[in-house]
Amino acid sequence: MAKSSPLSEKLDEIRSRIAAAAAKAGRDAKDITLIAVTKTAAPEQLREIVQLGVSDLGESRVQVIAQRIPQMTEFLARQRTHGDAAAVPAKVRWHMIGHLQRNKVKPLLPLVDYIHSIDSLRLAEEIEQYAGKLGKRMPVLLEINASEESSKSGVAVGASVHLAEQIDSMANVALVGLMTMAPLTEDKEKCRFVFARTHEIFEEMKWHKIGGTHFRHLSMGMSNDYETAIAEGATMVRIGTSLFGGKVEHEAEDGE
Ligand SMILES: *Cc1c(COP(=O)(O)O)cnc(C)c1O
Repeated sequence: MAKSSPLSEKLDEIRSRIAAAAAKAGRDAKDITLIAVTKTAAPEQLREIVQLGVSDLGESRVQVIAQRIPQMTEFLARQRTHGDAAAVPAKVRWHMIGHLQRNKVKPLLPLVDYIHSIDSLRLAEEIEQYAGKLGKRMPVLLEINASEESSKSGVAVGASVHLAEQIDSMANVALVGLMTMAPLTEDKEKCRFVFARTHEIFEEMKWHKIGGTHFRHLSMGMSNDYETAIAEGATMVRIGTSLFGGKVEHEAEDGE
């Protein structure tokens, strides 16, 4: 047994809350992936979280991803040759969760395993083009602006089914699900509404036969609202500050 640390205690608590929320919803906790959002994580916390068995990491800025992935790859390789190979996951997956600009698609694509923040046809087309050049079929999630706040990113609810159909017809982009962000509020009912609505749109798309068998993810729920999101069907929860501390910067844009 690894000795306990502040991070391992937080992770244990989050895992048991995920399990309890899943049980309460009559779901299997194995169907819910914890994505550790490393925006506020120090380098040693990043190494520790994978040693604690977390294999899905999320970041919102291309520049940061480009720095952190080589460091992580090197760390994992070192662990496997000199350290305790059993203590690190066989594969670490990186999730791009932040707003993505088209001019960052090219450097991002070779690095990440999922992009959660597709919000326009032009962005999807850019991914289609570069993924084709890499010989890669890029798994993406369509970000839905289910709260319809103008400040939020994501595609408007009314435009979402059509956009999903367009993305679904692309050869090098695999539409694997939907992502949403609840409004920043303590009001659990408002969050629940946004998650439930996103789930409805997801079911509607499945009814339209969009996405096929790999269309199965609902990426929703963050530190303050992941239990509500699990109750409404989340299969991926994106948790940052509850794990790593630090200040919340949900709208971190990849600005430069
Ligand atoms: C930062 C961020 C998170 C994590 O938020 P916390 O409240 O720190 O858990 C999740 N999703 C997105 C899109 C983010 O930008």
